[in-house]
Amino acid sequence: MKEIVLNPEREFSVTRRHPWIFSGAVAAVIGEPQPGETVRVVSDAGTFLGVGAYSPASQIRVRMWTFATDIDIDESFIAERVARAIGTRAVLLAEAGTNAFRLINAEADGMPGVVVDKYSEWLVCQFTTAGAEYWKSAIVEALRVYMPCCGIYERSEADVRKHEGLSDTVGLLAGEMPPESIEITEYGCRYLVDVRCGQKTGFYLDQRDNRRTVALYANGCEVLNAFSYTGGFGVAALNAGASSVTHVDISELALTMARKNTLLNVCSLENSEFISGNVFEVLRKFRDQGRLFDMVILDPPKFAESKNSLMKAARGYKDINLLGFKLLRPGGVLATFSCSGLMTPDLFQKVVSDAAVDAQRDVQLTARLQQATDHPHGLCFPEGLYLKGLLCRVW
Ligand code: SAH
Repeated sequence: MKEIVLNPEREFSVTRRHPWIFSGAVAAVIGEPQPGETVRVVSDAGTFLGVGAYSPASQIRVRMWTFATDIDIDESFIAERVARAIGTRAVLLAEAGTNAFRLINAEADGMPGVVVDKYSEWLVCQFTTAGAEYWKSAIVEALRVYMPCCGIYERSEADVRKHEGLSDTVGLLAGEMPPESIEITEYGCRYLVDVRCGQKTGFYLDQRDNRRTVALYANGCEVLNAFSYTGGFGVAALNAGASSVTHVDISELALTMARKNTLLNVCSLENSEFISGNVFEVLRKFRDQGRLFDMVILDPPKFAESKNSLMKAARGYKDINLLGFKLLRPGGVLATFSCSGLMTPDLFQKVVSDAAVDAQRDVQLTARLQQATDHPHGLCFPEGLYLKGLLCRVW
């Protein structure tokens, strides 16, 4: 097998079971491995540390498949990993009120660069790394065996593919073409998902548990659902007895789907408002108008793309949270999220508390929230915990 030799004293993260080896840690590449090909990883002293996928175009030069030294990476290894990931979702597969969840969550499931989401009878895959691309057909074969479905569709369009030297790939991988929208259920709520053109693989499944938690507090509330996408939190709130929901999103396409999702659940658009615009501007306008809500949900996209943009991102989070606090009646609920992996839970809490100070509000922290249980992260891979949220009572 081809080999990567690490620089002196650069084996520490691998021995700590962290799955990424950066280019700066690599002293030598032996045997000219192709993109995605499996390589042995060896320390400067010659200790065999495990095997990973080689990615010559990426700063993350190797992603570990395993830290075991007696395992070959072949079709049966891949099939075993797919089966293992699906096996750990058994509780969700048995959950009658939910039929959409993540089956494979990349590093957390020992499959870097592989994301597979299940929407009712369809699977949607994202392969974001050279190693994932290399084993694509073996992964699809294993999915067909372990998770029989109507069709498997690919949405490999993530920005990270560019860093891996891969171009976007979209289309049918197996079975039938998914329909324009797939109806899913999530703890009793019904949503239409456009897996071909929607954001990511079509729906933000990582917020499933949080939509349910937030809805518990929504009865009788006037709700502001900022960064609504296709209505997720707001529809769950309406189903739970919210008196009205105002959705705000910059994407018209998302709001069109939010209208359909509202009709699907409550048969009327009477208590729902759909505002197409920039949340930063719309919330400022509401503040100037003196408009108030009983519940504000802030679920923005990733503001921090790199370490350099972290401080700018922090200002963005502070700004919207300050506005969120100002728009709440005393006793109201704020559910605020960050999906920037670079923003740690501690930093996020600091930013939100700074906003509370500026807004001159007393705030109780009711619950810390994170990505749903089908989006686990490795204990030795803290980067995998990207979604965090705070559920607050605001006085
Ligand atoms: N809460 C949603 C997911 C939100 S994803 C759910 O549960 O499904 C983030 C959303 O923010 C996307 O729909 C994107 O279109 C929208 N968005 C991004 N920047 C925005 C901005 N400045 N103003 C309004 N919406 C924005």
